[in-house]
Amino acid sequence: PSFGSLGLIQPLLEAIERVGYKTPTDIQLESLPPALQGRDIIGVASTGSGKTAAFALPILQKLWDEPKGLFACVLAPTRELAYQISQQFEALGSAMGVRCTVLVGGMDMVTQSIALAKRPHIIVATPGRLKDHLENTKGFSLRGLRFLVLDEADRLLDMDFGPDIDGILKAIPKERTTTYLFSATMTTKVAKLQRASLSNPVRVEV
Ligand code: AMP
Repeated sequence: PSFGSLGLIQPLLEAIERVGYKTPTDIQLESLPPALQGRDIIGVASTGSGKTAAFALPILQKLWDEPKGLFACVLAPTRELAYQISQQFEALGSAMGVRCTVLVGGMDMVTQSIALAKRPHIIVATPGRLKDHLENTKGFSLRGLRFLVLDEADRLLDMDFGPDIDGILKAIPKERTTTYLFSATMTTKVAKLQRASLSNPVRVEV
């Protein structure tokens, strides 16, 4: 199976070739078709599986159709992971001029607010800092959001981001937002978060 058979648009197939991916990984093979059809996804997969591209590609495909406003928000447990995710969005979305911003703790709030004012398409954030911006950055909201990704959900919850995530979910229009949840393990806490955030999801496991 090739990337060409999964329903991706030409600009993304070219980007995939540019970054050097030859064939889809298992998680990409299983999650891209339902994701491109607009379904919510639960992916049971760990780092190294290619899960980042598995959620970035369908988001970028939809962004290509309708490039407006703040489009997607990805929640990640650590700064390092947030920057890696942002880099993959920028690499795969460079031809479409995707604007990506990272909001993580330990960095200047004002600098981040200025970046937000430039209207990024994609925000990659740790939950505590995103919640802080929702409460304190004037003019910033997630009301128009189209995609939410909860990446490494088991780690997000182990790090006690649960209350921040609950607050963030309240700020997002659930009916209009497609949600992807990825986790290496399926714990009771992850299952609870899944029920609070996804509707009729397709479960893919590798
Ligand atoms: P991830 O599991 O998303 O952290 O990805 C692990 C690594 O695999 C990253 O460096 C990706 O750039 C790379 N990668 C993702 N998809 C593919 C693919 N289809 N072929 C080769 N490498 C890939």
